[in-house]
Amino acid sequence: MTEIPRSHPRYASLVARERVAKGVKDGITSTQGLIAQGRGEAFDYLLGEKTTTPAAEATRAAAAVLLLARQPTLSVNGNVAALAAEEIVELSKALGAPLEVNLFHRSEERVKKIADLLRSMGAKGVLGEKPDASVPGLDHARALATRGGICDADVALIPLEDGDRCEALVAMGKKVIAIDLNPLSRTSKKATVTLVDNIVRAVPNLTSEIKRLSSASKDDLKAIVDAYDNRRTLERSLEEIKAHLDAFSRQA
Ligand code: ATP
Repeated sequence: MTEIPRSHPRYASLVARERVAKGVKDGITSTQGLIAQGRGEAFDYLLGEKTTTPAAEATRAAAAVLLLARQPTLSVNGNVAALAAEEIVELSKALGAPLEVNLFHRSEERVKKIADLLRSMGAKGVLGEKPDASVPGLDHARALATRGGICDADVALIPLEDGDRCEALVAMGKKVIAIDLNPLSRTSKKATVTLVDNIVRAVPNLTSEIKRLSSASKDDLKAIVDAYDNRRTLERSLEEIKAHLDAFSRQA
């Protein structure tokens, strides 16, 4: 990895870029994952590379949905593994929920490498290497799912996901939590709760919220979920982008 000086004004963004590039070199991330990261970076730039108020509120709602879940599962792809492997393992431990590797461009070798990486970070019971079920409405490789994991989950966390799989999981009756910097994506619009935030900030924030809300009553958690409006959150994320651009115009 290229050494990035800590003093660089765009340090976090450049480190993330290096991590995804390393993911490709290590056979964890697909080359298409580089393009997905580029799209994410562009939206992060427009959002001011910070967790916005609507993203923080969505994170709180997502924590409440996950704490109320009967059987949550966290989906992991090549970009998630490159950017936030340790953080997603921490989240799965905080929730006592399994991780399931699911790849858009699936190869058994890549699935194993990601599962091994997660296990090396202390994850127990990583799923996805031996899928025994499928999600209706998706083509073969992407449809693969595991009983006891995504297949039976009532709540699925799907960071950096494409719209088809999000829609198919919602159609199965699951509550879906997306992490997606693009508030206009099909995934963002279809999900039950969308965290319009960078995964490197969103996952640690979500783990903290889960710990903070872990002693809240079911009624209090339900009240958080009932008050949440995903459509409105996406609109407010777009307003954040607009305000950021307006501030730039005023400075010019
Ligand atoms: P959709 O099918 O939902 O309309 P898409 O075809 O753009 O979306 P992909 O390219 O498969 O979807 O998904 C990647 C998504 O993840 C993009 O919307 C991108 O903005 C987002 N993304 C990429 N990198 C990050 C990141 N580091 N943190 C959060 N989101 C990210």
